[in-house]
Amino acid sequence: MENRLYQSSYLAEILKKFNFSFSKSLGQNFLIDGNIVKNIVEKSGITKDDIVLEIGPGFGTLTEELALNAKKVISIEKDHRLMEVLDYTLQNYDNVKIINEDFLKTDLEKIFMEEAKGQKLKVVANLPYYITTPILERIIENKKYFSTISVMVQEEVARRVVASPNNKDYGSLTLYLKYNCESEILMKVPRTVFMPSPNVDSAILYLKLVDRDFDVDEGYLFKFIRSGFTKRRKNIMNSLSTGFVDVSKAQLKEILSSLELSGNLRAENLSLEDYINITKKYTEMIK
Ligand code: SAM
Repeated sequence: MENRLYQSSYLAEILKKFNFSFSKSLGQNFLIDGNIVKNIVEKSGITKDDIVLEIGPGFGTLTEELALNAKKVISIEKDHRLMEVLDYTLQNYDNVKIINEDFLKTDLEKIFMEEAKGQKLKVVANLPYYITTPILERIIENKKYFSTISVMVQEEVARRVVASPNNKDYGSLTLYLKYNCESEILMKVPRTVFMPSPNVDSAILYLKLVDRDFDVDEGYLFKFIRSGFTKRRKNIMNSLSTGFVDVSKAQLKEILSSLELSGNLRAENLSLEDYINITKKYTEMIK
């Protein structure tokens, strides 16, 4: 049988050969379970027509499975120590491009135009957990370059993403992603499939980027949402009028009563539609 990177004997060999030590601060928890690696790629629906962007290839375990299934894989890795490892582990794959950069600073337009020749990218990654939210935000802010996102995240983050109103996990991340994507949890993943094993369980999150025309001022919408959840224990009459939007209590009272929403509700009781309606009423009012 051919060597595959998720085989523990092969991983041990590479650790020794390169004398590699895991960096906690770079979120280095590498996958060591072949079934999970295969499942991520299969459930993401990756085919030979797809160009995949991977964030953080590590030793290239997931990259290898992606290379076998996709047309091309572009992997962005911040840790320069991994460059020689990846040169070695992925030497047999000519459809992989490794870029030694910080994903949060990478020129995504350049990747889209030069590496993907204008084809929308599918993101597949076992994310470094210390920057999960900034990574998701960056992808969504640049959503014209992407079609889907399949990412391993902490289980707690996955729960927040798919949470419904009136739930403690429901918050501004939920609403930001709900506004931009259709989301589902593909599978839960135990901490034992990583080396070293993290202190939390994980889940694979699947996000499909959608263009929904809500015809709303996004700037104000997300300011209202942030105001609500920054003071999540207060009622909306207080949290929305003392937050990021310049709205008086009298204006807010008028907006809420026209929408038949009680000022005693809290941020977590409102749906995305409620926030959109509040924003629309507000922007009409200040025209
Ligand atoms: N994909 C590998 C796997 O599944 O075995 C490694 C995943 S590990 C959870 C996260 C990877 O992201 C590490 O290789 C780490 O060095 C890399 N990383 C951390 N911060 C990064 C950043 N800002 N930009 C790109 N890669 C980063």
